[in-house]
Amino acid sequence: MATAVFEVGAALFGACIGSFLNVVIWRLPQEDPAKRSLGGRSHCPRCGAQIRWFDNVPVLSWLLLRGRARCCKNPIAARYPIVELLTGALFLLLAVQLPGGSVWSVDLAGVETIDLRGAATFALHALFLSMLVALSFIDFDTQLLPDALTKPGMVIGVVAGIWPGIVAPIAEDPAVSRALCTWLGSVVGLLVGGGVTWGVRALGTVVFKKDAMGFGDVKLMGMVGAFLGWKAALLTLALGCLFGSIVGGVMALRRGLGARIPFGPYLALGAIVSLFWQQDLIELLFRRWPDWQRENPGAQWLVLLAAAGSLFLMLVLVRRGRRSG
Ligand SMILES: [Zn+2]
Repeated sequence: MATAVFEVGAALFGACIGSFLNVVIWRLPQEDPAKRSLGGRSHCPRCGAQIRWFDNVPVLSWLLLRGRARCCKNPIAARYPIVELLTGALFLLLAVQLPGGSVWSVDLAGVETIDLRGAATFALHALFLSMLVALSFIDFDTQLLPDALTKPGMVIGVVAGIWPGIVAPIAEDPAVSRALCTWLGSVVGLLVGGGVTWGVRALGTVVFKKDAMGFGDVKLMGMVGAFLGWKAALLTLALGCLFGSIVGGVMALRRGLGARIPFGPYLALGAIVSLFWQQDLIELLFRRWPDWQRENPGAQWLVLLAAAGSLFLMLVLVRRGRRSG
């Protein structure tokens, strides 16, 4: 029972965080420092009227207002409730399937009590997911991944790495403290995630003679590596290229090669998939697939070709702004 209450609570809390992320997504990329502040009441972006609290309830207000602002009757973008629903869904998924543990411990009598270690793991992952949502939508809007999110993300990721349950320890040595082993796992994750992405970016710049990827992608991947470890960072990069080249390829077919795409949202999607399913995916890629490849000669070349193809498409399609992001 307590578990179900927690799961519903996590979804509702996620929707509220999503409502705050809408503010972050809108205000953070603003040029004017006065508009960049995250505090203060919400104002209608069209007419500037203050939005009252009962018109600011996640998802529900948008539905009750039928997608139109009360003040000026201008349409409210469907993206606001979509971000709220998405964040709520991610928090629910996290509550149901917390990586490496549970928020609840059940004793022999079947009594559920809150597990502090699980709760802290939930909070840290919830923060990570929230940052990924904000970065994705800012990247859709501006083709930039602001330093104001990626740099603190890397720092928080490395600090969080001390906590057991975030990153797998780099080695299992009883002589070395576990906190040190998991922290090193986080640092190595940051270096591998950021480093490999930096290498791919440098390669793309040499081959295509343009900035295929931004430095923001490198910092985002450093953050992902710090939170998930080096294995999941490499998985994230591969998945990001795969998702991005599928979506980008479809868009290029419909709108021509001029239709370029940001990379951040696909890396973020790859990171979310890696967070929840990295064990299953690594098992599939390195245990079950090799059997299939041994039985089918030439299969590994096909896989390698597909991987190289999606990386190539990705580098052709990705667009980046002039600024460092
Ligand atoms: Zn208005």
